[in-house]
Amino acid sequence: MTDKRVALVTGASRGIGKAIAFRLAQEGIYVVLNCSAHAEAAEAAAEEIRQAGGEAEVVSFSVDDEAQVKAAVDGILTRLGRIDILVNNAGITRDGLLMMMKPADFEAVMKVNLFGTFYCTKAVIRQMVKRRTGRIVNISSISGIMGNAGQANYSASKAGIIGFTKAVAREMAGRNITVNAVAPGFIDTDMTKAMSADLREKAAAQIPVGHFGTPEDVARAVSFLVSEESGYITGQVLAVDGGMSM
Ligand code: NAP
Repeated sequence: MTDKRVALVTGASRGIGKAIAFRLAQEGIYVVLNCSAHAEAAEAAAEEIRQAGGEAEVVSFSVDDEAQVKAAVDGILTRLGRIDILVNNAGITRDGLLMMMKPADFEAVMKVNLFGTFYCTKAVIRQMVKRRTGRIVNISSISGIMGNAGQANYSASKAGIIGFTKAVAREMAGRNITVNAVAPGFIDTDMTKAMSADLREKAAAQIPVGHFGTPEDVARAVSFLVSEESGYITGQVLAVDGGMSM
């Protein structure tokens, strides 16, 4: 059990999720870092948080498997007594032009990005409703707002997250639970490292501020949306994109 607020951050072994976990821990929140394939990296991230004076632990499960999600969340609730904050950050890409896109690639992306968000939210929501407090932040993408060639699966999943966010925000508005989405633009992580230098240059040219963002840029926005101060903000999509989607 802990007296601290507890946050579950999915996909926190690296990139944006790791930065969110760090930021929340710095603010005195007990952070549960979820990961799937890279448990060692997540353990290292949790250790870095502890070295910096925060409290953190790792719980591995795949967000696209409802039974795993439920068992993991029930375990956290038994041990810590609460989950105050859920950040649905885990996400994957399987890019390709529509005419070449395999159903399996469409399905995999929908399963992790959209179904994963649904499974995790459903698993934590009952105890939030009972305790009449909660903050949920879903990591969407400007691809879900603007669309992106080569990402029909990813854009669909991220647009789905926006609709999901708004519907659940309406359902939960009377229960002191806020549900918002953050839509990052191009952020420097493993996900964007795969881009060629030429593609990166073209992408940067479309960003009004002229450069990619950092995971910490996204983490600061999430930190605000999970704070007590943001209680009157729900069902919103906050773009963290250097002005790209305006
Ligand atoms: P990343 O560096 O590729 O990291 C992805 C994270 O998701 C990893 O921690 C990974 O865990 C986890 N993950 C993947 N599949 C999972 C599963 N089935 N179950 C649990 N965890 C899983 O990605 P990122 O760039 O930080 O992106 C984080 C989020 O921001 C994603 O939702 C992404 O779509 C969104 N986003 C990113 C950008 C960008 O430019 N980077 C822009 C817009 C939106 P393992 O390490 O264990 O595999």
